[in-house]
Amino acid sequence: MTELIKAHLDHRRIWRDFDYCYPVISRRSHGLSLGVNLNPDKVCNFDCVYCEVDHQTPARRRDLDLTQLERELGLLLDLAASGEIYQVPPFDTAAPAQRRLNDIAFSGDGEPTTAREFAEVISRIARLKAQRGLEDVKLVLITDSSRLQAPAVVRGLELLMAHQGEIWAKLDAGTEAFYREICRSQVPFQRILDNLLVTARRWPILIQTLFLSWQGQGPAEAELDAYGQRLQHLLDQGGQLQGLQLYTVARPTPEPKARPLGHRELDAIAARLKDRFPTLPMEVYYGPEGQA
Ligand code: SF4
Repeated sequence: MTELIKAHLDHRRIWRDFDYCYPVISRRSHGLSLGVNLNPDKVCNFDCVYCEVDHQTPARRRDLDLTQLERELGLLLDLAASGEIYQVPPFDTAAPAQRRLNDIAFSGDGEPTTAREFAEVISRIARLKAQRGLEDVKLVLITDSSRLQAPAVVRGLELLMAHQGEIWAKLDAGTEAFYREICRSQVPFQRILDNLLVTARRWPILIQTLFLSWQGQGPAEAELDAYGQRLQHLLDQGGQLQGLQLYTVARPTPEPKARPLGHRELDAIAARLKDRFPTLPMEVYYGPEGQA
């Protein structure tokens, strides 16, 4: 164990003091995921009713210091690759099957593709992986799909996909009205749909959809139908879908009327989509009730 790592382990969970990178055992990764937050300012171009970003605590900083980001991620990669991270709480309680580094995920307190340094960060992280012989570790972009066609973002996507990349793209609605109500963004719904199609024609994308109970109601039949039609359109127009992730609210939200869907309601939606898209891989992540 290097002195540097030893020093860090002595300060348990030192990454709590990191500004950009954090480790997490992720349900969706089935293992260890290293998160990279490109939005330390907590600014997002969406304002989802279910957003779980902590806006009560002021941002620690607003800038992106790429040298520091590399240093933080490099240390976490070393701890993960050596297995030493699993000696430190809470990772010491991870099941044996989860003790594997699955991915580096661009997922933070805002939309990663809004960062001017998006492509540069991907290039640096690809180099960090290569230096450690970790080329197989995936790079996962978790995006609200709003900027997938911006030229600077496309440059970043090209780099991402050349280095074991995956694009997990949000689509939370089937209609403009519901999208506006839930995602509360200035970005037109049609642009989201266009971005998804153009991107999925070039690379397979995974669609992430959060279904919730909003103002006491789960998604309406017509909304679910429209959502299915959007997926069908993507496929009909030559889009490649890697799969579908359905999930619901898992933690307290700032909007008390944004509540998790129950286990049974989410299962019913999944069954309906499975009927319609039998060959599309689908994963369902339950809220607090389903985790019990
Ligand atoms: S896109 Fe993500 S970070 Fe942005 S408001 Fe929605 S949930 Fe929050």
